[in-house]
Amino acid sequence: MLRGNRKFTSFLAVLSAFLMAFALNGCDARKAMQAGLQSAQPESFAAQGENTDTLVYYLDVGQGDSELIRLASGKTVLIDAGTPDTADALCDMLEKLGVSKIDILIATHPHADHIGGMAKVVGRFPIGEIYMPRIPDKQVPTTATYEKLLTAIDSKGMKVTEGKAGMTVLDADGEKLEFLAPNSKKYTDLNNYSIVALLTCGEKRFLFMGDAQTDSEKEILKKETKLNCDVLKCGHHGSSTSTSAAFLKAAAPQSAVISCGVNNDYGHPDKKTVARLQKAGVMIYRTDRQKTILARCDGKTVQFETGLASVAQS
Ligand SMILES: [Zn+2]
Repeated sequence: MLRGNRKFTSFLAVLSAFLMAFALNGCDARKAMQAGLQSAQPESFAAQGENTDTLVYYLDVGQGDSELIRLASGKTVLIDAGTPDTADALCDMLEKLGVSKIDILIATHPHADHIGGMAKVVGRFPIGEIYMPRIPDKQVPTTATYEKLLTAIDSKGMKVTEGKAGMTVLDADGEKLEFLAPNSKKYTDLNNYSIVALLTCGEKRFLFMGDAQTDSEKEILKKETKLNCDVLKCGHHGSSTSTSAAFLKAAAPQSAVISCGVNNDYGHPDKKTVARLQKAGVMIYRTDRQKTILARCDGKTVQFETGLASVAQS
């Protein structure tokens, strides 16, 4: 009943935006509908009442990554926190969504498009545990963004736990969060240190690749005999260095999410990667086109909502 009401309310919101945009713009119905969709606000957790679904938000942070998971238990997990430019907007969005604490915070790797907003997140929200990969001293970035994050963590008196393959960081009531990577202690490319996380929700599985590239994918493939997932957050914004044919075949997702900015300078996602996904029959969702994307999982099915409010352009 709650779900029906909510859907109806969302429908009314989109319909009224549609009618308003239609009145303003004349007869361009497609534009009007897009305007309606783009202004749709994600509903807060509180407004969803006794929600028992697992909610995975692929937040549109422009050319960066940030995924918020709201577990059925009410606990929250934040994987990455976008760029420095969207730090305040990200915190505002988390608040709007009803986040009052982040139980598990994961910095997949210390690049600014993943940890850019994390110092502010640490400053504004109570945090349970923080996971980051261990990077050899020589490769530790000396960027202001990274330093700010470490200072924010220090000033809260918190410690960082090393995230690596083989760890289970949560396992309760049919929801499980495990790390599949990094598997090595030394890579030439910082992206390959990315913590790769697997969320199991009943019968459904979500893979979050961070910016892991082919080297890391190969290691995961060697270790994991059952890599299959339902939703794949593609590595490295859909670039050519990730989502290899072998990895895609083993993961065999039904849907893939690519997090990237509109007309970004890197040419993400790579055309060949997109073609590979299409050829495999994978439904592709992109934050540059569909803004914030919500995947709702009841343990047996995954339903997507797109066009939710952007963090990058709010
Ligand atoms: Zn990145």
